[in-house]
Amino acid sequence: MNKSQVAIVTGAARGIGAATAQRLSRDGYAVAVVDLDEAACGATVSAIEAAGGRALAVGCDVSDAAQVEAAITRIADELGAPVVLVNNAGIIRDNLIFKMTESDWDAVMNVHLRGAFLMTKACQAFMTQEKFGRIVNLSSSSAQGNRGQANYSAAKAGLQGFTKTLAIELGRFGVTANAVAPGFIQTDMTAATAERMGMPFEDFLTAAAKQIPVQRVGQPDDIAAMISFLCSPEAGFVSGQVIYVAGGPLD
Ligand code: NAP
Repeated sequence: MNKSQVAIVTGAARGIGAATAQRLSRDGYAVAVVDLDEAACGATVSAIEAAGGRALAVGCDVSDAAQVEAAITRIADELGAPVVLVNNAGIIRDNLIFKMTESDWDAVMNVHLRGAFLMTKACQAFMTQEKFGRIVNLSSSSAQGNRGQANYSAAKAGLQGFTKTLAIELGRFGVTANAVAPGFIQTDMTAATAERMGMPFEDFLTAAAKQIPVQRVGQPDDIAAMISFLCSPEAGFVSGQVIYVAGGPLD
């Protein structure tokens, strides 16, 4: 792998994004670690540098067009043209539909859908010019419907349609687009869900594991491994797919 190739991972300060940034660095990419707060990206950047990789911390709200434009310009100037984009930044604002506010709805749509749109639009310009690109969008098993997540499930289902359209439009330029749809992964996001449900996180993990065919919850590295494959040059004939990584069958 050419060391100068550049990958961008959003929401990479922690959780799945942090594991993915580190994995892509091990794969040979220079990695832009993008998150809301630049200082919060420090731990991921330090871990990458300690392992001998190259990384840049970039503070950016992916739902803000001006911030996205500034971030992509900075990444291209300081690291090089991005050819890999992992749209991972995400939030939850769970509530049953009768209690869900407009701001719960808009916040989730803005980060997941508007954020993926803005980041992808900016990055595809480099990818099409390079005649190589890999886009991976984080969907979710919740795309199939999940109590309390009308906003999140709609956004994650929306990302699947977005992904398939990117695959159709960008394939001729050597750019693939795929969605990875995790099941239950042990991160701060699922810890927040446990808290909302008034359950100790350990109990929540144990209960979740019992429902999963492989009898364990997922870890961020489980998702990073799939993203790594989809971003590799050898995955060039896999495009427009939604790959559930959930410890059991989903489709
Ligand atoms: P996480 O631990 O909550 O991390 C998400 C990261 O995204 C945080 O660092 C957060 O920053 C950042 N972020 C939020 N809004 C942003 C914005 N507007 N611009 C830039 N960064 C932003 O989540 P995770 O569990 O690793 O999940 C990562 C992705 O996988 C998400 O898209 C999620 O929906 C998806 N997913 C997760 C699971 C799961 O079980 N964990 C399952 C299916 C899908 P702050 O800390 O500053 O908010």
